[in-house]
Amino acid sequence: MKTVYLDNNATTSIKPEVVDAMMPYLTDIWGNASSVFYEVGQRAEGELIKLRESVAKNIGAKNANEVYFTASGCEADNWAIKGYAFANKRKGNHIITTKIEHHAILGACEFLEKHGFSVTYLDVDDEGIVTAEDVEAAITDETILISVMTANNEIGTIEPIADIAKVARKHKIAFHTDAVQAIGHIPINVSELDVDMLSISGHKFHGPKGVGVLYIKNGTRIDNLIHGGGQERGKRAATENLAGIAGLAKALDIAVSNIDKNMANMKSMRDRLINGLRERIDYIKLNGPEDDRRLCNNVNFSYEFVEGEAILMRLNMKGICASSGSACASGSLDPSHVLLAIGVPHEIAHGSIRFSVGEDTTEEEIDYVLETMPKIISGLRAMSPMYEAFEDGRIESFTKKYMEEK
Ligand SMILES: *Cc1c(COP(=O)(O)O)cnc(C)c1O
Repeated sequence: MKTVYLDNNATTSIKPEVVDAMMPYLTDIWGNASSVFYEVGQRAEGELIKLRESVAKNIGAKNANEVYFTASGCEADNWAIKGYAFANKRKGNHIITTKIEHHAILGACEFLEKHGFSVTYLDVDDEGIVTAEDVEAAITDETILISVMTANNEIGTIEPIADIAKVARKHKIAFHTDAVQAIGHIPINVSELDVDMLSISGHKFHGPKGVGVLYIKNGTRIDNLIHGGGQERGKRAATENLAGIAGLAKALDIAVSNIDKNMANMKSMRDRLINGLRERIDYIKLNGPEDDRRLCNNVNFSYEFVEGEAILMRLNMKGICASSGSACASGSLDPSHVLLAIGVPHEIAHGSIRFSVGEDTTEEEIDYVLETMPKIISGLRAMSPMYEAFEDGRIESFTKKYMEEK
């Protein structure tokens, strides 16, 4: 059976060109980039300089020394939040973020709340948008840091980051954005966005896992998360993961060079899937925006009267990979914090499935999903006591009103 991989917001396949770019660092160039008194180390150091410059260019950083390599997107997020908060606690103890951030941000903020900081978790509207006005209204004399994601990993909402960055700049407050889902899906330029810190992760754009970047604008005071040696200009200890860094740099280069073509394909596959599911299945609700504020690869619907996990199991039997929320949240019985934040009722939030298309997703693959999903949903509804109660007129439908409005 063929595999149709539509979980690209969880991770992406590693490109063969990326593996090729990594190989020399796993074979010939194995030196320690910090051991610069002999040729073996110098060679590694020289490569690291070039790789850092390449990443800097591809995210629009003015200086290569504003690019700090980390071991993941989660680490970059944790570092930005905790490192900035601890280094600047004399200026104030208040942080502003949103209710729909990735758990890396939410977890770091909750940790800081146990250490004397206070955090505002902003509400979002029913499409997941937080406005610059909402952010500005939450600012107090104590506010030192604002963190709002560039794009949401579950429902694909693209936030007005440039406007929020302006508000932060006006009030002289640092601004961090988690751009892990955005990179490769929308053009990202840290200088144009005027952000102080920005996180990305290699494995979300066809690079390797276990490597990320925190862009830190020069002049931003930040404490270490990882103490030890003097790597990353003394800011993050650990012998450099040159192979991982080379893979991330190559994947970023490919993603940035092909962004227009990739965005066009993903958007067309996304819309084929959204429109096709709507035509074929009743009592469903699209989560997230319907316009150009939606990530080009994200499709997230709630299917009333069924459970997301049951859908995933049946999709798996047909070779289709999807997700019922964020990977971190699956395994817990609570509905996704993002769906609850946009006001999706518990009853239908449990029946939500995210398909995230990739740059290579084909029409044939989408059509296979469009053929398979209606059968799965009607099969599950046939066994659902809730659906029976609805058909007998004993309970109301949550999505009916929504569908009638469409
Ligand atoms: C995947 C993801 C992360 C975490 O990145 P890892 O490299 O897997 O740690 C952080 N934020 C968002 C929005 C993500 O989608």
